[in-house]
Amino acid sequence: MHGETATVHGNESSWMKVTVLTPRGRGAVATVAAVGDIAWWERGKPLFSAANGRSLSRQPLCAIVFGFWGESSREEVVLCRMDENRLEIHCHGGDAAVERILSDCAARGATIERAGFVADAAFDATGRLETECIEALTRTRTVRTAEIVLQQANGRLRAGLEAIREAIVRRSPSAQEQLSAMRKWTLFGARLTSPWRVAFVGRPNVGKSSLMNALLGYARSIISPIPGTTRDVVTANTAFDGWPVALSDTAGVRDSGDELEAAGMDRGRAAAGRADLVVLVVDRSQACTPDDQRLFASFPNVLRVLHKADLPQLWDGPILGAALAASSLTGEGIADLIEAIVKRLVPEVPAANVPIPVFERLAREIALADSELRAGNWSAAEQRIQNLLAD
Ligand code: GDP
Repeated sequence: MHGETATVHGNESSWMKVTVLTPRGRGAVATVAAVGDIAWWERGKPLFSAANGRSLSRQPLCAIVFGFWGESSREEVVLCRMDENRLEIHCHGGDAAVERILSDCAARGATIERAGFVADAAFDATGRLETECIEALTRTRTVRTAEIVLQQANGRLRAGLEAIREAIVRRSPSAQEQLSAMRKWTLFGARLTSPWRVAFVGRPNVGKSSLMNALLGYARSIISPIPGTTRDVVTANTAFDGWPVALSDTAGVRDSGDELEAAGMDRGRAAAGRADLVVLVVDRSQACTPDDQRLFASFPNVLRVLHKADLPQLWDGPILGAALAASSLTGEGIADLIEAIVKRLVPEVPAANVPIPVFERLAREIALADSELRAGNWSAAEQRIQNLLAD
């Protein structure tokens, strides 16, 4: 499986650790890295045959070697020996080729471990900090988020933590400021690897599914003129302005005697509760109903959309302040809505030199160090940051 690592121990004198560097999913190319004794490859039947006929140990370092993986059905791969102990295999993207390479290696005695652990031991990156960043990198979904995580892995995070440690050592008040500045990006850091969540609420038939489909640009949920069709929460992933976003189309909120629909509505409310942003949709072509009123009361600070803007306006509800008029039918207001969603989700982008908690353990440790400093426990905070840097 992508994101997992196979540790292969042939015998005491010949070992190999294998991990997938590219994230799971469709892609042109996937990269598998292997660290260990080069002789491991030459024990038993060759897993890789170079087109130039030479064995792996006779391939020069840093040269691109074209060849084939496997014996019976041969898969084209490109391989590069990065140094004496490490090589990278570039195969077709998607699951099949990667699975095959991993399982062939595993068949020689592999145990499957999580990427973070083994990458740590195997690749001896600068440290556990960088390894966990790389593990986070495999979970990013857009180029924009991947770039940010990569910059953190490439020294930004370490430099930021070093600066915090130095300030703590000097017992400087700036330590607290720097920690708070880093903590400010905790949610942002988490969303780099798990999308921002946007939930659409509104009574049935106001066009939530249609609006979500318009945003996604493809038909994802069922659209029906019968109220109550969206019975459950439908989630779809997309990206706005390079930020990964999961849109949830919740069941229409209204009084319902239908048990199934009521259950869907409960899940809808729960999804709205978990969301980073709620988009409240009303049908502008109809008069305001008591259900609409209740929704305004339940969701006071949300993004409001006056939907079906292509139809004559009959809406007589509260003046909706900064509400956006939109139509899924004509596309009017959809680009503005995307812009408004992005502004709410990512009101500010961190400056280039800011360290970001890009994985959960880091976020936890930073929060703990922050409370230790607040409690005046300088040495505990110093030790905690030191441990992050030393691992
Ligand atoms: P939901 O129950 O809130 O998810 O509503 P749907 O997306 O299923 O839409 C309900 C009905 O409204 C369907 O008949 C849609 O075709 C119609 N509808 C949705 N969006 C628009 C729009 O922007 N303009 C107009 N005129 N009709 C729309």
